[in-house]
Amino acid sequence: MSYKILNCCHDVKYGLKPYLTFIKNLYILILQKSSLYQFFCSNLIKLVMKKYFPFFFIIISFACKQSVEPTVYQIDKGLEVYLDKFMKEAETRGITIITQNLILKFGTTTEEICGRCVKAKNDGQRTVTIINNLNCWQQVPYENREALVFHELAHCLLGRIHRDDFLPNGIEASIMNSKGSGFYEPCIYDITGNGSCDKTYRRSYYIDEIFDEKTTVPTWGK
Ligand SMILES: [Zn+2]
Repeated sequence: MSYKILNCCHDVKYGLKPYLTFIKNLYILILQKSSLYQFFCSNLIKLVMKKYFPFFFIIISFACKQSVEPTVYQIDKGLEVYLDKFMKEAETRGITIITQNLILKFGTTTEEICGRCVKAKNDGQRTVTIINNLNCWQQVPYENREALVFHELAHCLLGRIHRDDFLPNGIEASIMNSKGSGFYEPCIYDITGNGSCDKTYRRSYYIDEIFDEKTTVPTWGK
């Protein structure tokens, strides 16, 4: 009996051993394989990145560059003076503006607008069109022409959007106003006879505001 019991136990003990050993070896093998696999993969990735990264980089750069449309710089003669002024105002304030992708031109439209800015995505072409008709350009004072060009340039070159709020006294807070005009125009028909319709003194505030929306409210606007 005791033999049988011993035999029994012996059988059980040594009967499981091969399975336990197999499982243990399998586990070790998996670990080894896993380590080998990881080692192989990480080194392969390192090798590929080291050897071929410049190649991939060039391919990706090339592909990205291909998606950017070529740009041109083209300024209509009659508008150069306004662009120069805009650039000088920016420079005075330490603001650098890129114009190599700018087209500034005269045009026509059937819409009731005097100017338009069209921007391609990223650093693509910026096209400002100024409507060269009597009411928008030909019969208006220099100051109004300047404000119109500056408004469109601010859209295209400074990323400004319309600002339709008012200063405390009810005067437009910005030449980026979508409806107003004559923001700092000179007095053309002085009905009062005292020159009070002259608004040119407002120009400095409005130009400051184009480049800095947080410009302090001027005394005349309180
Ligand atoms: Zn606008």
